[in-house]
Amino acid sequence: MTGKWWDQGWTLVSGCTAVSVGCDNCWAMAMEKRLMKGSNGCVQFHNDRLARPLRRKKSTTYAIWNDLFHEDIADLEIDRVMGVISASPQHKYFLLTKRAKRMQGYFANRELVDRVSRSAGWLCQNGDDVACNVYQKDRWPLPNLALGVSVENQETADNRVWALLQTQAAYRFINIGPALGPVDFCKTSEAFPHQDTQHPWHNRPILGGVDLVMMEGESGRHARDWPGFDNAARSVRDQCKATGVPFFLKQMPKKRLIPEDLKIRETIQWGP
Ligand code: SF4
Repeated sequence: MTGKWWDQGWTLVSGCTAVSVGCDNCWAMAMEKRLMKGSNGCVQFHNDRLARPLRRKKSTTYAIWNDLFHEDIADLEIDRVMGVISASPQHKYFLLTKRAKRMQGYFANRELVDRVSRSAGWLCQNGDDVACNVYQKDRWPLPNLALGVSVENQETADNRVWALLQTQAAYRFINIGPALGPVDFCKTSEAFPHQDTQHPWHNRPILGGVDLVMMEGESGRHARDWPGFDNAARSVRDQCKATGVPFFLKQMPKKRLIPEDLKIRETIQWGP
């Protein structure tokens, strides 16, 4: 399957703070500075935008922009997002973070299913004219949600991809973006911190637990072009091909033209 990977953005958080070198030219922070006059400069969750997908009947793929797992966003607020996702099975959602450890911890909470159930009920009762689906506990992990981590080089891949693999999810994806150095997933496998040879991920290829890898170069006024990008993208493409994982090249650095052999736009094979 090929095509665009999302239909609409769903921006629930404004503001962010940098966590690694990939954040240096972040458009979300630049946008916040531009809008600073009307805001208090803090990271904020926008409750008023929560119900938007519930009102939309047409099947839509949403990309959740900005980092929902920022430390200033409360678990209760994330629960409400999960409540909306659970109550709108007609849509698909991509949720991307650089805060992979927090995401892992959030989904590991044993009370999460009940908390999300309560949030879904609360949203439906408090929504005005929205038609809500009945939340079903057996639809867990949420089958219309793909959880992803954003990495920019080998070091960030080694750290964040492991957390992603240990996060309970129906679908997982990796976004290498902005790509600032090569990423070899065999090295990520070797970097697995778990010494337990019985652990399910011990000595297993990383990409076996992933449903999509996306890659993009940096764009914008201060974008860093990296001469090795093309070959690094070919290497990731080949790693994906070897393991049967879809690969999607979003854009070249500084929006250069995409070479023919890298015009690949595969995406997740969502289940029924
Ligand atoms: S984590 Fe994401 S949204 Fe936040 S500053 Fe970094 S790139 Fe921007």
